[in-house]
Amino acid sequence: MAEETTQAAKPRRTFDSAYGFSFSVAVGLILFIAGLIISLTVGQGTSIGLIFGIPLLVAGLIIPLFMLRDLFVTAEIKEPCPNCGATIRTSDATLQLRCDSCQKVINVRERQLFLGE
Ligand SMILES: [Zn+2]
Repeated sequence: MAEETTQAAKPRRTFDSAYGFSFSVAVGLILFIAGLIISLTVGQGTSIGLIFGIPLLVAGLIIPLFMLRDLFVTAEIKEPCPNCGATIRTSDATLQLRCDSCQKVINVRERQLFLGE
């Protein structure tokens, strides 16, 4: 999540990723705990708790994985440097970076690379 940036830049994209991460973990936790509570309390001695509890437990584990996968799938960027043309590999979470070849500051916006100030 915390990609290195050369200086304090607009934190919008990083905030989105961090928010998505926290949100998916929170959803997973809530489902997991709800499933745990239901299977341990509501259905004591019967199978009702397991019928409702186990799917919630499983969903609590699987849903965050799917949500996190989406976050990471969109993260890869491989574009030529707008200044020198050298291929730059970075992630969507990066706001600003420095080109390895020409040392120019590059801004990352909407999966595109723009020459910085
Ligand atoms: Zn460059």
